[in-house]
Amino acid sequence: MDRYTIPPDAFLGDIPVRTPLEPGQVALVGTGPGDPELLTLRALRIIRQAEVVLYDNLVSDEIMALVPAQVERIYVGKERAKHTMRQESINALLSEQARRGRRVVRLKGGDPFVFGRGGEEIETLAADGVNFQVVPGITAALGVSSYAGIPLTHRDYAQACIFVTGHLKDGTCNLDWPALARPRQTVVFYMGLVGLAEICRQLVAHGLPAGTAAAIVQQGTTSSQRTVIGDLSTLPERAQAAGVRAPSLIIVGEVVRLREKLDWYAGARAEG
Ligand code: SAH
Repeated sequence: MDRYTIPPDAFLGDIPVRTPLEPGQVALVGTGPGDPELLTLRALRIIRQAEVVLYDNLVSDEIMALVPAQVERIYVGKERAKHTMRQESINALLSEQARRGRRVVRLKGGDPFVFGRGGEEIETLAADGVNFQVVPGITAALGVSSYAGIPLTHRDYAQACIFVTGHLKDGTCNLDWPALARPRQTVVFYMGLVGLAEICRQLVAHGLPAGTAAAIVQQGTTSSQRTVIGDLSTLPERAQAAGVRAPSLIIVGEVVRLREKLDWYAGARAEG
């Protein structure tokens, strides 16, 4: 058996591999928000076929532990204000590795096409004539809201849900605040921790009641998940007092109140 043939797994049954990773191909793989059980079967199988893996700080250690030992790992991490590798260099590195005929896996937290710059990475590959495939992942909004006991929509409270980036360039607000401040919807802010106070202020200034429920969830779906609940007037102070750190997701909307009844996840439970 070739080293890169996928070993038969009892739990994968007879599901055929439809898109094996080819030599010289890049797979852009979403790994979900942290809990390794939220990987898709396809992601796990592709990871096991890799010869080189590029990853960043949003890919959890538990997921990196699923990468076979002989596979080369390249850290291309990006943290706010501490860019380890520029996006252009990552794009170029992916092309270069693939051109060497290797099976390349680019791991991305959540889903590669949701605030992940995955589109930019494969645009470069497409321009360079490099073969690629994309494996979707559970985006943070979906995983984190489930594990925090906050349904993003609910017939009584929210008929729409918006995902938006809260990364506000130099404090200037170029978001469509009137649209975000409409009633009967849920707004999920990615990368909003630094701008939390400004986000809450703008939503109130554009018409949402200051008492609108809001939550911030740190490291959702992992064993370190923490949730701070409040409303648009209290959340910034509470989050600061609790020392909330990245990665954190902000959820704004009346659905947050359901958590009182629906909170089910107690982090990693000691077992056995
Ligand atoms: N492509 C990713 C998002 C990358 S942007 C996805 O689909 O999920 C990075 C932002 O995602 C973080 O700033 C944070 O807002 C959010 N995020 C990612 N993982 C998270 C987690 N486990 N808990 C809370 N927020 C998370």
